[in-house]
Amino acid sequence: MGQPAPVMLRMGAYVAKQKLLGRKRFPLVLMLEPTLKCNLTCTGCGKIRQDEELMGKTMSYEECMEAVEECGAPAVSIAGGEPLVHPEIDRIVAGCLERKKLTLLCTNGLLIDRAFKKMKPSPYFTFVFHIDGMREHHDLMVERKGVFDKCLEGIKRAKALGFRVASNTTLFKSSPPDDIARLFQLLMGLGVDGVIVSPAFSYEEVDPAHDIFMSRDESIALFREIHSKAGPNIRYYNTPQYIQFLLGERVYMCTPWGNPLRDPGGWKGPCYLLTDQRYDSFQEMLDSTRWEEYGYGRNPRCAKCMAHVGYEASTVVHASIVDSFQMLAQNLSS
Ligand code: SF4
Repeated sequence: MGQPAPVMLRMGAYVAKQKLLGRKRFPLVLMLEPTLKCNLTCTGCGKIRQDEELMGKTMSYEECMEAVEECGAPAVSIAGGEPLVHPEIDRIVAGCLERKKLTLLCTNGLLIDRAFKKMKPSPYFTFVFHIDGMREHHDLMVERKGVFDKCLEGIKRAKALGFRVASNTTLFKSSPPDDIARLFQLLMGLGVDGVIVSPAFSYEEVDPAHDIFMSRDESIALFREIHSKAGPNIRYYNTPQYIQFLLGERVYMCTPWGNPLRDPGGWKGPCYLLTDQRYDSFQEMLDSTRWEEYGYGRNPRCAKCMAHVGYEASTVVHASIVDSFQMLAQNLSS
């Protein structure tokens, strides 16, 4: 994924420290969702279909910083909802950067001009544009025409202004492999620093009539096709081991505590994707969740899950300290 050297060294030192201290469970990326409000209604999104009371709430800057400090993860991914609708989003990003966190801001790109007025490029900060395919497929999945073009415009402008830019593509049963492969090539041509890819999680909140979610075998078959059509020059923002997992070449159990989620409802357990319990503190979530009840083969709701927020951390956590550094070195040279 080609992160700057100081960023990867900081991440590597953090992981090595946790392992030397013998910590069994530790966070890698805090998933911070200061608001679940969104200016789109994407077909496969479970977040915007949560209860109304939660949708009406917003986390303040102070609550966000408390979560960042309490969790202690070296990276923060700010998502939602659409984070750019949050009135204090620039302060929240700045607060994460002041705390020396590798910071990602996930966006659908519609309000990106606002961000350009308030945020400055930094090697520690990346805009992550949500883009699920070429024009027709993307606009269909986000249920609005014109979003693909707006998103692409935002990516070009962000690169021109000197920002680090990644993209995030969610794969569904209906994702056309040629189309996604062309998208990845297009993004490479635009100078995007890396593409993130993940099969969609089968949210119970999404109308099953859509039939858009894949089994694990279907996810692997689809990604193999995309990967071979896209060619060898794609810079993935995922770890190489997660890409091998998606290709069916590696097996992992998930690491749900690796990407803990804090949103206006509190700390969510057991993971970014399932909401069985809410907690007031990160430590309470870590200590109280019955981890043995979750993961592939242990819980029917986990049967289809290969999502990067569940498995990307596994590739780092389950590696030895030497392997972790090798993984980071690979990352630096890619
Ligand atoms: S497999 Fe793991 S990450 Fe995926 S839904 Fe289950 S507990 Fe969450």
